[in-house]
Amino acid sequence: MPELPEVETIRRDLAVVLTGETICAVKILNPKTVFPSAAFFKKALVGQKVKGIRRRGKLLIFALPLNFLLVHLKMTGQLIYQNKKQKIAGGHSLKAGFLDSAVGGELPNKHTRVIIDFKNGGRLFFNDLRKFGYLKIVTADQLAVILKNNYGPEPLTKEFSLVRFKEILKNKKTKIKVLLLDQKRLAGLGNIYVDESLFAARVNPTRLAGSLKPGELEKLWSAINQVIKFAIKQRGTTFNNYRDSQGRRGNFSRFLKVYGRSGEACLVCGRPLSRIKIAGRGTHFCAHCQK
Ligand SMILES: [Zn+2]
Repeated sequence: MPELPEVETIRRDLAVVLTGETICAVKILNPKTVFPSAAFFKKALVGQKVKGIRRRGKLLIFALPLNFLLVHLKMTGQLIYQNKKQKIAGGHSLKAGFLDSAVGGELPNKHTRVIIDFKNGGRLFFNDLRKFGYLKIVTADQLAVILKNNYGPEPLTKEFSLVRFKEILKNKKTKIKVLLLDQKRLAGLGNIYVDESLFAARVNPTRLAGSLKPGELEKLWSAINQVIKFAIKQRGTTFNNYRDSQGRRGNFSRFLKVYGRSGEACLVCGRPLSRIKIAGRGTHFCAHCQK
């Protein structure tokens, strides 16, 4: 699943090419991907100009003159922008093989759900293998309610202070891994960056959130910010060799210390890393180093 760093990376890339551009056509290949309805969606978008692209947690927010277009990539969503000169892709990382047909190959393909055409000839494709992702038109008021009800503070912002983090964890009988994945408490983290942050702080993912000592809490808060900051700098994590037209790729996969490394040696103590399931999510950690 694309997490904060991957969504932020595609946001930055798309903002460069789409800001100021006018939508001239919309093609909906899977009506269930768009809200509130396919007819409304199409009518609302055509003729509008992209004023800018924001992000909240893993949610992309396209600001338009009359309303907002929300894009959530969920498990397997991707955004691919193509014009005569370049192709920009982001979102779900693809396994080899599938990658070629989805990003490197001809578009649209069998996973394309929505196509947005721009007056300048550029095309934005929304591809989604599992179909959990969505595109939604909302008013400013609706957007405010969505953000208020679903998104906690996010790393690297002043709202995510150490004091706030302490409040979020205080007396919680939830496992720390589960709590960090809860977007309402802390927005933006998913499985990869939670595992990496817990390892960096040497905190065992099975610990109850409320049981962390002040020192551990501070280390974890700092680790979350550092891991996310570095991952954004590396343009997120991709597990393939796809490069966009400018030769860039998500590099954070080279720096993963525990995620996807179960059975391999811990980079600190050399013992094999463990993999367990917590709330149905594969969890990677060192049982020796993480207390
Ligand atoms: Zn270890």
